[in-house]
Amino acid sequence: MDKEWICLSTPNFRGNEKKYVDEAIETEWVSTAGAFIGRFEEHMAAKLSAKAACACQSGTAGLHLCLRHFGVSAGDLVLVPTLTFIATVNAVLYQSAEPVFFDCDEHMCIRVDQVEEYLERDCHLEDGRTVETASGKTVKAVIPVHVFGDLCDMDRLMDLAERFHLTVIEDATESLGGVFNRGRYAGRPTGTVGHAGVLSFNGNKIITTGGGGMVVSNDEAAVNHIRYLSQQAKDDAVYFVHEEWGYNYRMTNLQAALGLAQLEELDMFLETKRRNYARYQARLAGCGYGELLPFGSEEGSNHWFYSFALRRPDPAKRDRLLQYLNNRQIQARPIWKLNHTQTPFRKYRAMDCGNALQFYDRVVNIPCGTNLTEAQLDRVCEALLAFEKEDRG
Ligand SMILES: *Cc1c(COP(=O)(O)O)cnc(C)c1O
Repeated sequence: MDKEWICLSTPNFRGNEKKYVDEAIETEWVSTAGAFIGRFEEHMAAKLSAKAACACQSGTAGLHLCLRHFGVSAGDLVLVPTLTFIATVNAVLYQSAEPVFFDCDEHMCIRVDQVEEYLERDCHLEDGRTVETASGKTVKAVIPVHVFGDLCDMDRLMDLAERFHLTVIEDATESLGGVFNRGRYAGRPTGTVGHAGVLSFNGNKIITTGGGGMVVSNDEAAVNHIRYLSQQAKDDAVYFVHEEWGYNYRMTNLQAALGLAQLEELDMFLETKRRNYARYQARLAGCGYGELLPFGSEEGSNHWFYSFALRRPDPAKRDRLLQYLNNRQIQARPIWKLNHTQTPFRKYRAMDCGNALQFYDRVVNIPCGTNLTEAQLDRVCEALLAFEKEDRG
């Protein structure tokens, strides 16, 4: 059988990408200055109704810049979900701060009730800050991650953040285009509820600049400082005066040219993601051993990544399913190995992460790119349905 590979996701360049990149090259503005950077920032801020945006080198760089700006420093504690891409946690380590790991809820986002329990039981307020009683360390921030495009319970999390004086950095790297559709923040785009939000334009994200990220916020001063830090904290472009030390984290004009064109396509991508999700749902409705997981935020979600889950946790069966799909030239993969079990992070505190462990043993992510054709999607569904009869576990 010589079939074409169906990838999880491939970049979709059918708009002005080539035109804008050519323009950047022809004008010789290819590096960390140039008109596309500002235009990309302005368009994104407008799209998200955020006051300001700073384009940077990656989502990881954006997370790091936020932690630095909001004063997370050595020995501070930052609350993170265990079920996330490792970048969320690495950024905490860049500041020599320490992660505290939390479980996820039934939609794979951080368990806010567990965060609340931790803050009330294990911490106390002292001079306007929250201190973990046993260690004496300050709890500075929390990074909710909108996993696979589903949305965290920001109403409860923002209430907790206010009570416990925490900075909230929304890791919206997977949820661009999502909009909160219930509660206090109904109508607000993802990334604009916390003190700052971070987007990513890595190759597999809903829009891509090859690599890149953006910090968005309604706190204009914060974004201006973050932009300053991202450009080596340069105060004067002639005499190279620096009042602070910074990073080489600015996005290039070439990337921004690509980003601006991609942003023009975002609404079309969102529509495609939703349509493909609905087609999967219809095709897989009769599946006995597994199911396509719903998005808790429903139409509020950008439907970025699709999760097919076994009805019961069974890591051996999950691996057989991955192999089965792989043998049929269909790319699929398990969710990330949980961060609290990763070698560099095992020494940090983790709450009971039973839900996340179950998801890890149940879920495979299936092709979800906007280039996916109906025929390809149907081929994925046929394989998922056929596995039931053919599995010899
Ligand atoms: C993609 C991603 C990031 C980081 O983005 P990069 O642009 O690749 O640095 C951070 N957190 C999560 C959850 C992601 O999926």
